[in-house]
Amino acid sequence: MAYDIQKIRSYFPILKRKVYTKPLVYLDNAASTQKPIQVLKAEERLHNDYYGNIHRAGHYMADKSTIDFEEVRGKVQQILNSPSREEVIFTKGTTESVNLVAYSFGERYIEEGDEIIVSEMEHHSNIVPWQLMAERKKAIIKVLPFNDNGELQLQKLDELITPRTKIIAVAHVSNVLGTVNPIREVIEKAHEKNVVVFIDGAQGIQHTSVDVQELDADFYAFSAHKAYGPNGVGVLYGKKSLLEEMPPYQGGGEMISEVTFEKTLFNELPYKFEAGTPNITGVIAFGASLDLLKEIGIENIAAWEKGLLDYATSGLKEIEGLTIYGESRNKSGVVAFNVEGIHFYDLGMLLDKMGIATRTGHHCADTVMQHYGIQGTLRISVGMYNTKEEIDLFIEALKKVIRFF
Ligand code: PLP
Repeated sequence: MAYDIQKIRSYFPILKRKVYTKPLVYLDNAASTQKPIQVLKAEERLHNDYYGNIHRAGHYMADKSTIDFEEVRGKVQQILNSPSREEVIFTKGTTESVNLVAYSFGERYIEEGDEIIVSEMEHHSNIVPWQLMAERKKAIIKVLPFNDNGELQLQKLDELITPRTKIIAVAHVSNVLGTVNPIREVIEKAHEKNVVVFIDGAQGIQHTSVDVQELDADFYAFSAHKAYGPNGVGVLYGKKSLLEEMPPYQGGGEMISEVTFEKTLFNELPYKFEAGTPNITGVIAFGASLDLLKEIGIENIAAWEKGLLDYATSGLKEIEGLTIYGESRNKSGVVAFNVEGIHFYDLGMLLDKMGIATRTGHHCADTVMQHYGIQGTLRISVGMYNTKEEIDLFIEALKKVIRFF
C-alpha cells in the first residue's frame, strides 16, 4: 500500500499553522507528537455523549465509559501481542511505569547487595527511579556502556551480570542517539541467568513493531503522548507471574477487593496497580491513536521515517563543522548534533524563529552528554507526518543560521 502522506497530514490540523509567519515544521516528535483529529474527536464524543466514572457505578454512562476504556486495554494488548489483558496496566506515562516497577519489584525482589544494571544511554526516567530504589534497599547500580557510535557494548553484559543481578533496565530506542537496541539479545542473555529485563519503550512502540511474547519481555513501558495519543496516559506491560508477586505501588480506590481496618485485600490484575480514578478521557482517546497506527501500519511508518532519517543525515553531513552523535547501524528517526563554534541554544532559537521546532539541551540524558563530554545538542526527531520538503526547509534554515554566525 502506498504511503499517503497528504491524507496522513490532513489528520493533523495543527500542521497547517504558521509560527512567526512561517509554516510550522515540527521536528520535536521524540518529546511529544501532535494529535490527530481522531483523538480530538474521541475526547469530544466522550464528553458530549456518555462520560461517567468507570468500573464503579451501575448507570448507563458509567457502563458505556467502562466498556470503551476497557476496549482500549484490548487494543494495547493487541499492539503489544500481550498474552492477556490483565498484563496491561494503565499509568500516567513511561515515567510512572518505571517508578511503579522500580518500587514494587524492588520491594518484592531486591535485597541489600543486589545489583541493578542500567545502560549508559538511558533517559533520566529510566535511571533515577532505580537509584531511589537502590538507595532504599542498599542495592548497587551497574552500568552497561555504549561505544562512540551509540551502540550498546553487549559483550560487556556477560561480565556485568553476577548472581546478585536482579534486573536490567534498558531503552528500546535511545531518545538522543536514535539507537534501536538489540533488546531481544539483552533479554536472552539476561534470561540465561534468570535476570528480569525492563524495556523502556517510550521511543519504541510508535516507530517499530513490538511483540512482547516473541521478545519474551518481562516489562515493557511506553507513553501515549509520544505515539499520537493524549498526554497523561502510559502503559506498563508486565508478565503476570511477576505482577502477581509484586505488591501494589499506590493504595486507594479500585485497587482493593475488600477493606477493613484490620486488613485490606487487593484487587486482581490489572486493577491492583491502578489506584484511583484513571485518566478516562486520555485512555479512551488513546484508542483512536492506536487505531490510526494500525490503519497506517507501524512497518509502513518505520519505512517512511527511515527515508526521512537517511535524507536528513546526508543533508547534515554536508555541513562543515557539524558532529552527529549516534550513528548506530540500526537507527530510528532521531538526529542529535552540534555545530562547531555555535551554541545549540542559539541554533535552536533562531530555527524556531523560522518556524522550525527542534529540541535543544541534554534531552534528559545527562549520561549520554557525559559520554561525549558535551553540555547538550540540538535534536531533530521525525514522526509519521513529516516530509522530505520539511527536511529541506530545516537544512536550508540551518545553513542560513550558520552563515549568520
Ligand atoms: N524514556 C525515554 C527514552 C524517553 O524519551 C522519555 C521521554 O522523552 C521518557 C522515558 C519519559 O517519558 P514520559 O515523560 O512520557 O514519562
